[in-house]
Amino acid sequence: MERSESPHLFSGSTLDSYTSGVWHASALLADRVKAVRQPYSGAAVADLQDQVDAVDLDRPLGDTGAALHEVARLYLDNAVWFHEPTYVAHLNCPVAIPALSAEVLISAVNSSVDTWDQSTAGTLIERRLIDWTAGRIGFGPGADGIFTSGGTQSNLQALLLAREETLAALDDRSAIPRLRIFATTESHFSVSKSAGILGMAAGAVVGVATDGAGRMDTAALAAAIEEVRRDGDVPMAVVATAGTTDLGRIDPVAEIAAICESQGIWFHVDAAYGCGLLVSQRRRHLLDGIERADSVTVDFHKSYFQPVSSSAIVVRRGETMRRIAVHADYLNPRAATVPNQVDKSLQTTRRFDALKLWMTLRTMGAEQIGDMFDAVVDRAHDAYLLIGDDQDFEALAAPTLSTVLFRYRPAGMDVAECDELMPKLRQRLFYGGRAIVAGTTVGGHYWLKFTLLNPNTTVGNLRDVLDLIREIGREMTGERDAATAVMA
Ligand SMILES: *Cc1c(COP(=O)(O)O)cnc(C)c1O
Repeated sequence: MERSESPHLFSGSTLDSYTSGVWHASALLADRVKAVRQPYSGAAVADLQDQVDAVDLDRPLGDTGAALHEVARLYLDNAVWFHEPTYVAHLNCPVAIPALSAEVLISAVNSSVDTWDQSTAGTLIERRLIDWTAGRIGFGPGADGIFTSGGTQSNLQALLLAREETLAALDDRSAIPRLRIFATTESHFSVSKSAGILGMAAGAVVGVATDGAGRMDTAALAAAIEEVRRDGDVPMAVVATAGTTDLGRIDPVAEIAAICESQGIWFHVDAAYGCGLLVSQRRRHLLDGIERADSVTVDFHKSYFQPVSSSAIVVRRGETMRRIAVHADYLNPRAATVPNQVDKSLQTTRRFDALKLWMTLRTMGAEQIGDMFDAVVDRAHDAYLLIGDDQDFEALAAPTLSTVLFRYRPAGMDVAECDELMPKLRQRLFYGGRAIVAGTTVGGHYWLKFTLLNPNTTVGNLRDVLDLIREIGREMTGERDAATAVMA
């Protein structure tokens, strides 16, 4: 008797089912997105929890179409839409359509770019993109790198390489507790997280002071390095951030490079956010000196309009990656004559995310990506002026990239009152669904944050968001005053 094939497994004989499944999904999505008028439905956690809990996972629907309709209700109806112009909260971008086409291929072919025999041309495509990115950074032909799941993993890997280089130079693996990383408090929290994962001491990340604008103070860096050495500890890496998550500040990369070169310290640049500048026609100079880094983190899923995940770590001296190579007979034996990317990755099975960027570059080209990134930086400057012109609002500082920190603080509201109101206001705005902004604290005070990564967001949209915030702010202060009046 012949075995019957599952109609649900992708193969040459299930292509009708495949094309209808993919078509159905995209049609359903298009149908939903057509009706989207705001970034969020406003659904409460408890409501969504009930709906998700009500699904019996042990009773399949048997049909992709039916499952899709269920998912449309559970997920799409309450998704947060980053393409909506009043979504201005976190570092999420609207995505490039060529990359979405690539996603269709990536997931169906299901290549794994760990070894050559699971990916072939995929490996070569990934390597070309690493070379391309290295070229944009200004690295020479010795550069190398690997795609990762995100900036967090890229930073971890960079610091792992720094640790291994430092330990090799010391020829003493017992030195790990004495290793130190230098970064400002504005640096991404994945730096401290990495230090923990790498087995470093609790105080291993030395906080370097910033100048008034939130950029690393290089005199303070030099002093901190000296102090660490005086204490008998070992400088392992300096992390400069090119685009801090909150203020978008860029540490003085060239000056820090000079210090690292003279001191023989690994220099990592976290450009998870600022990497969009690599393709900017107007602001590339803001990254001058990045070509002197030992390693660079880039997040294509932030500033290149790529779907999650798409990130890379790129290193100036490719040979520094060899220290993490581990060989398994079944996968990548030492004597392999083909390129096995797994030697350079913290992951084993790994998505062929590189194809998304490839498709984007081949369709749109780097200039268009750079222009879109420039457009959102321009928009942040517009937002800053808009806020400055409005008596009910104040901005913390002029933007460097595409974030603006601000708060609603009409005449007569003191700072303590404002600090208390802002997080609640942000929450109410979120559950209203019409606009989403982020929030953060700076120097103990709470600020709202616009993060602009959508070139379709207009000044008019931003004005609408401010008006909405004002409306909610007035409503909340009104409620509070009424409550105090009742109590009195
Ligand atoms: C977002 C971000 C990261 C982390 O990247 P993920 O892709 O979210 O893991 C690291 N550094 C900076 C500066 C970031 O903005």
